[in-house]
Order: sequence, then C-alpha cells, then structure tokens
Amino acid sequence: MSLKRILDLKVSREHYQSDALIIWCFDERFDDYRERHPLMHLLFSVLFWAGIKRFNPETSLLRAYIRQQKFRHPDVLKLAGGAKALAFEGEGNRNALLHQIWKAIRLHGAPRIVLMLHVDCGAFGGSQAFGDDPSGEMKNHLGGLSVAGDFLRQEFPDKKVDLLLADFNGLCALE
Ligand SMILES: [Zn+2]
Repeated sequence: MSLKRILDLKVSREHYQSDALIIWCFDERFDDYRERHPLMHLLFSVLFWAGIKRFNPETSLLRAYIRQQKFRHPDVLKLAGGAKALAFEGEGNRNALLHQIWKAIRLHGAPRIVLMLHVDCGAFGGSQAFGDDPSGEMKNHLGGLSVAGDFLRQEFPDKKVDLLLADFNGLCALE
C-alpha cells in the first residue's frame, strides 16, 4: 500500500475556542455546495449589502446562518434529522448524540448549542409522513425542538441553546 497526496491545501494547526456547536441535518439542500457564477455572486452581494436580504450571496443556508451570526469557529455536527435524535428517537441514539456534544464542548468550549430541524426531512419520512398537512409537520417539529431544547438546557445549564426550524425560504428561530 502506498499513500499518494491528492490535494494540497494549508490547514491551520491552531487550536480554537468554538463560537457555537451546531447540530444540523446532513440533507445537502440545507447546506448547498453549489457555487454561483462570480458575476451573479457579485450582484447578489451588492444587493444584499444594500439591504435586500433575499439576495443572500450564499447558496448554503448553514453558511448563511454562520455568516449572519458572525461565527468564526463553529463546530458542526451533521446527522440524519439534526436535533431529531434528542426528541424523537430512543435512549441509545439520544445518548450517542449527547456523547458527541459533550466531547465537542470539552474540546472547544462552545458557549452556545444550536439545534436544527427542517421541513421535508427524510429522517421523518419527508412531508408525506404528515399526510400533506404542513401544520401537522410544523406542530411536530416545534414540539420536538422544544423537548430537545429543554433536555439540553438541563444537561448544560450554563449554555445558551438556540432552536431553529429550516424551510425552503430560510430559517426561523423558536423563541
Ligand atoms: Zn433532514
């Protein structure tokens, strides 16, 4: 066996303090890797900075959120359903996620934990799982976020916990 370098890129060795630990679904639609044509990116950037916020130059909702919050070193945990494992799955899955959260916080000391659920999530069986009832899906997700948030606030009383619901128009915070 031999090892062949396939990519050159300088990566910082410096340790960091995390701004936030973000629990996000791995669904690529909500962290879109597509790149806009440079001219379109420029046009979107100008309009965005002029205050027309629907022309966000980012294509990825996750990156747009990270930029909006001015996070410099977020830790992102991606798993099926995002925060789903904390509210809707068995103790085994919940403890596995909790273990990852503890580890991330011990290593990088994030003061905030961000939990995300999204509409049309395959981990819930998609929108159809709610019988074409958007209000049923919304109710389910808001209830789940609330349960997951309460659970984490008990586990980590000194952390700020943010609850986010993503849809195809952006992000909403549960307050
Ligand atoms: Zn999902």
